[in-house]
Amino acid sequence: MSGGPFPIVMSAPSGGGKTTIARLLMERRKDVGYSVSCTTRAPRPTERDGVDYHFLTRQEFDAKASHGEFAEWAEVHGNRYGTLRSAIRDVMDAGRHVMLDIDVQGARQVTAAFPESVTIFIVPPSVEVLVARLQGRKSESEETLALRLSNARVELLEAERYQYVVVNDELEHAFRSVNAILDAESLKRERKPALGGEVVGVIAQLLDGLTAKVGGRR
Ligand code: 5GP
Repeated sequence: MSGGPFPIVMSAPSGGGKTTIARLLMERRKDVGYSVSCTTRAPRPTERDGVDYHFLTRQEFDAKASHGEFAEWAEVHGNRYGTLRSAIRDVMDAGRHVMLDIDVQGARQVTAAFPESVTIFIVPPSVEVLVARLQGRKSESEETLALRLSNARVELLEAERYQYVVVNDELEHAFRSVNAILDAESLKRERKPALGGEVVGVIAQLLDGLTAKVGGRR
């Protein structure tokens, strides 16, 4: 009894833990698909091309941008990142909500293009946890770590633009919160065109049953 699929825009400062939450959602919910972004940044040792990102040269990226292939793109921490229109379309055409793990600039572009989007901002519980997560990646140099931390300040100020803010204090807890948001959003009446045939059928049956029991009075 759900409405149509919608984009889920999830943002967080780098190291906020959103990618892990997104991964858990993908594993545990059949109604959510992931939009694999394009980026000009170099792959980390554990990342796979076409799975974590489509890793492109700057030239390849700019060619896609000039052909209008991106629903949104932005420069983040000195590299370009973009969401392919085809990535959004493919997931939604399959009837699944599409998870976009994108920065605050991209989020603004997507919500303008898809007003039905659900926006969620993930906040790390403390500076210590944020720094520890970034250092734990081992792929950040002193320089990129400092850049990501200074960008985190700017990104945190954007949290109030999002419909939901979830503190990622503990992974399972944060996952449950995001899961509950998606359940509630899927059931929202405004998302169902004129209530949707299934719901109308259930209500009609209830009304018939009640009328039979107590007559037509209100
Ligand atoms: P990372 O380099 O840590 O994978 O990602 C850096 C930042 O870029 C994160 O905030 C991430 O959400 C964002 N990002 C990843 N893919 C996209 C995208 O397609 N578009 C935009 N605008 N940001 C993205």
